[in-house]
Amino acid sequence: MTKVRVRIAPSPTGDPHVGTAYMALFNLIFARHHGGDFILRIEDTDQTRSRPEYEENIYKALKWCGIEWDEGPDKGGPFAPYRQSERTELYRNECQKLLDAGKAYKCFATAEELEEMREVAQKLGNKQGYDRRYRNLSPDEIARREALGQSYVVRLKVPLTGECVFEDAIKGRVTVPWADVDDQILLKSDNFPTYHLANVVDDHHMEITHVIRGDEWMSSTPKHICLYQAFGWTPPTFMHMPLLLGTDGKKLSKRRNPTSIFYYRDAGYLKEAFVNFLTLMGYSMPEDKEIYTLDEIIKAFDFKRIGVSGAVFDVHKLDWLNQQYLLNSIPEDRLWERLKEWQFNDTFMKSLMHLIHTRIKTFGEFMELCDFFFINHLPYTKQLFEAPKLQFEEITYILQAIIWRLDELESWTSQSLNQASREVAEIFGVNHKKKIMPILFATIQGKLQGPPLFDSFEILGKERARARFLQAISYLGGLSETKRHELKKAWDRKDAKTWIAPAAS
Ligand code: GLU
Repeated sequence: MTKVRVRIAPSPTGDPHVGTAYMALFNLIFARHHGGDFILRIEDTDQTRSRPEYEENIYKALKWCGIEWDEGPDKGGPFAPYRQSERTELYRNECQKLLDAGKAYKCFATAEELEEMREVAQKLGNKQGYDRRYRNLSPDEIARREALGQSYVVRLKVPLTGECVFEDAIKGRVTVPWADVDDQILLKSDNFPTYHLANVVDDHHMEITHVIRGDEWMSSTPKHICLYQAFGWTPPTFMHMPLLLGTDGKKLSKRRNPTSIFYYRDAGYLKEAFVNFLTLMGYSMPEDKEIYTLDEIIKAFDFKRIGVSGAVFDVHKLDWLNQQYLLNSIPEDRLWERLKEWQFNDTFMKSLMHLIHTRIKTFGEFMELCDFFFINHLPYTKQLFEAPKLQFEEITYILQAIIWRLDELESWTSQSLNQASREVAEIFGVNHKKKIMPILFATIQGKLQGPPLFDSFEILGKERARARFLQAISYLGGLSETKRHELKKAWDRKDAKTWIAPAAS
């Protein structure tokens, strides 16, 4: 029997998502159960959004969870390199083979043409945006356009009729009419591959036997099957895991809940509880056993026990599980060690010294000043948020805008945070010191005054700060989707002055 080889293929385009750990765990469990290999491949072909520090964070976050891979960019292996940006030659060569075989074609559509096609498709209610107008150009016409230096993308010739049928090992038989599938772009005009091309070429070349990924990739699978057929390769077995949902039943989103693995680490969850919690997502052990080690699930694993409906990521459940671990697997004489690992260590404590040195009269005042670093849910009060003399609703707009600004930040330093908060003041046309600073003190420190604001902000870290902004928004009455959407437009125009009543600013 061929050796099982599975992979996760995260794109380093943002904070390390809980979904990455979730997929990594099921791939790891599957590989170990079958005595196979588990590969980490970095899909960084999106040149504008991929960043090396995000890649580093993926390694850090997975390692914190205790997840180890057998092959990867940092480890090497028989199919190296494992970073797609270092494999572009291979994708171009493979794509050329499809062009030569007439399975793919050069498409010269301009941005205006594409826009026009989208509008027409919308009017006609077509699922597809692209009308395949370049699918049958003559070789002479292609040569003429190339000689003129016209830019092009390479598209896959998806069948015009019939159906794509495949067996998903979790969901069963899936049937999609080819007419619903666009002629996929394989190579972009910058000569970089799309996700579809690079992903399929790599899964084939890296001898991946099972593609275990989230349900959100289901709509890509017919395109991938079509590519396997065009290349004449045997597709791997596909297994689409249930989507992670919030308790509101919607797809887990950082707009509503913390989704970065670092948040759970920094908020003081135990990695063993966090990992156990993630393996409960969409999976059930025999007799509904809920607390078990990774080794136990590896031994007992049976993919038939994976559910087909969404898996609810319920933080209350995680809290409960975490407490069970604290009670049952961390003896009292080990507890202090674990607390030290969390935040009561020299590195963290020393980072607070410059905040307090000139501000305490006795050591007894240390905690009074720094309590907010050790608390997950600050006891917000109305009085606290009355300080900036704004409507609570107006404060939610500002808090939301700060979240957007923070998400764009390249570096998380007290200077950049200070700068960012001044920009927000400008966009809303409000006084930074009188309005924004009190909002930030209240949200981050739960106080009207405290140690230097932006230094605390920096030390608290992005994930915990972000969670506080969400908590404060919700405490102040929340922000509806419609309002958020409208505000976003104003925010993108960099002018939200009308969102704050003139007297208030
Ligand atoms: N690069 C994709 C991601 O970011 C990979 C999806 C897949 O597993 O095919 O998750």
